[in-house]
Amino acid sequence: MTSQPAAASIPVNRFTPKAPAAARVIETRRLTPAHSANDVRHLVLDLGDQDLPYLEGQSVGVLTPGTDELGRPFKLRLYSVASPRGGDLPGRRTVSLCVKRVVMPRAEGGEHRGPASNYLCDLSEGDEVLLTGPVGKVFLLPDSPGINLIMIATGTGIAPFRAFYRAFDLACAPRPAHQELFFGVQYRQDVLYADELEAYGRQSGVKVSLAISREEQTAEGRRMYVQDRIREAGDRLWSLLTQSETHVYVCGLKGMEEGVREAFRAIARHHGADWDPFETRMAQERRFHVETY
Ligand code: NAP
Repeated sequence: MTSQPAAASIPVNRFTPKAPAAARVIETRRLTPAHSANDVRHLVLDLGDQDLPYLEGQSVGVLTPGTDELGRPFKLRLYSVASPRGGDLPGRRTVSLCVKRVVMPRAEGGEHRGPASNYLCDLSEGDEVLLTGPVGKVFLLPDSPGINLIMIATGTGIAPFRAFYRAFDLACAPRPAHQELFFGVQYRQDVLYADELEAYGRQSGVKVSLAISREEQTAEGRRMYVQDRIREAGDRLWSLLTQSETHVYVCGLKGMEEGVREAFRAIARHHGADWDPFETRMAQERRFHVETY
């Protein structure tokens, strides 16, 4: 059996919208090529001497300056922390975020530009950002050694998993016995943290499976999604899922949830089991974690 961090050791809401932390951008790096339609950035924010502790799997809130077209302040937006608890830079208090610029065509013409994501993606080094949090208790890593980890991400949903693997490398969280990462992006050029993931996938006990939806196809000729890679790995995953030390984490697009669940149902069926009660039990034991938007 695995154990969760004690509730008292989980930091929450040290900073609030009325009393936020003022962080400074010390790095803003585009993770996708300049010609890609997907503009995704890695931001490193310096907290100075402000004590905003966080654990991998938590989120921080971003306060976007200004008001919407009706004069209301922009809503607080939560972003998963993409750095391990000690931050990305030794000796400095930082928190890193992985942000995709949201630009969507509107049905009535023109486009919707997500206020928070565009604000964050347009920041320059030296700019100030107001942060709240940290928040989140459901996506935390257990603090027991020897677990198996199955991580499933689409797009910027990779953020918490980057925090996880960096935490294992820096030994701020116990290294799992076995790690599986399934990661879906549209194009190979858009694989976020590609260099890191390549090195991570070469570690022993780690398997990284990519689903490049617009360049790879399933046998039926559909876009390749993470759930298709999960089905392919069915036997391997089932032997992990039937162990009581295995934790599943799903992060990214809301739409992936049902597809992932269907893939697990098919794997369980193939092994003569019924997935839904199996997942319910895992969730009750806090071994099935979902964070989708
Ligand atoms: P995206 O680029 O739109 O999509 C990533 C991949 O998922 C693409 O290959 C896409 O394929 C595929 N996909 C689309 N529908 C799918 C489905 N039903 N099942 C499985 N795969 C599917 O992703 P994104 O814009 O980065 O969005 C990531 C999501 O994560 C957002 O909803 C965001 O709010 C959420 N999130 C972000 C953070 C953060 O800290 N930034 C943290 C947690 C969650 P096609 O487009 O080719 O169909």
